[in-house]
Amino acid sequence: MVGRQDQTTDPRLQAQLLQARRGTAFFARKLNQLSDEELSVDSLLDGWTRRHVVAHVGYNARAIARLVQWAATGIETPMYSSPEERAREIDYGATLSPVALRNLFGHAAVHLTVEWRDLPDGAWDTIVRTGQGRLVPASETVWMRTREVWVHAIDLDNGASFRDVPAEILERLLEDITRTWALRGDGADLVLSISDPVRLKEVGGAGPGSRVVRGTLAALTRWATGRGVVGVTSSGGDIPIAPRWL
Ligand code: ZN
Repeated sequence: MVGRQDQTTDPRLQAQLLQARRGTAFFARKLNQLSDEELSVDSLLDGWTRRHVVAHVGYNARAIARLVQWAATGIETPMYSSPEERAREIDYGATLSPVALRNLFGHAAVHLTVEWRDLPDGAWDTIVRTGQGRLVPASETVWMRTREVWVHAIDLDNGASFRDVPAEILERLLEDITRTWALRGDGADLVLSISDPVRLKEVGGAGPGSRVVRGTLAALTRWATGRGVVGVTSSGGDIPIAPRWL
C-alpha cells in the first residue's frame, strides 16, 4: 500500500526532494503570473520564447520520470530517444495552446513527484544514464530537476532572479558548473571569489595569469550560467565570458 509520504527514509534525500518541490512551486508561481499572451514573448534563452521554456520544463519532468521508472523497474528507459527528438518535442510543445502548455507542466510535475515518492530506499542507488550520457545513481535525478526548475523560472524573465534561489542550491550549482569546466579543461585561469560575508570563499586555483571574478554567490552563479554580468567585477577589468556550461 502506497502512502502519501516519500518511501525513502534517507533524511538527506528527503531534504533534497523538498528543494525540488519548492523549485517546482517557484516555477509554477512565475508561470501563473504570466497571461496567455505573455507566454509568446521571448525568454532569456536565445531563440526560445517562454512557451519553449515551459514546454522544455514539462518534458524534462517526463524525461526524469523515465529515469525514476528505470530505477523502479530495472527496465532501461532513456530520458530522450535522441537529442534531435528532444529538440523536436520542445518545438512541438511551444505550439500548444496556453491551457495545454500549462497542463503539460502541471501534470508532468505531479507525475514526477509521485514517481519519486514511491521509489523505495534500495532503488535510489540504481545507476541510470542522463541525457548527456553520464551514469548517475537515481538519487541524482532530484538535483537534476531542482537545477532545471529554479534556473528556468529565471529564464521566464518575469521577475525571478538568482537572488530568489536558496543559497545551498546556488552553491551546488556553482560547484556543478566549475566541475564541468574543469573536466573540459575550461576556466583554469579563473578564480571565483564569493563576496557574501557569510559565504566568503574562493573557487578555483590561483596561478600565474589567473583572473579573479568577484561577486555575490547569486551574481557569480548568474554569470557562470551565462546569464549576465550584473554585480560581477574582475581583476582584469573586462569581465571574462564564462566558459560554456551545458
Ligand atoms: Zn533545461
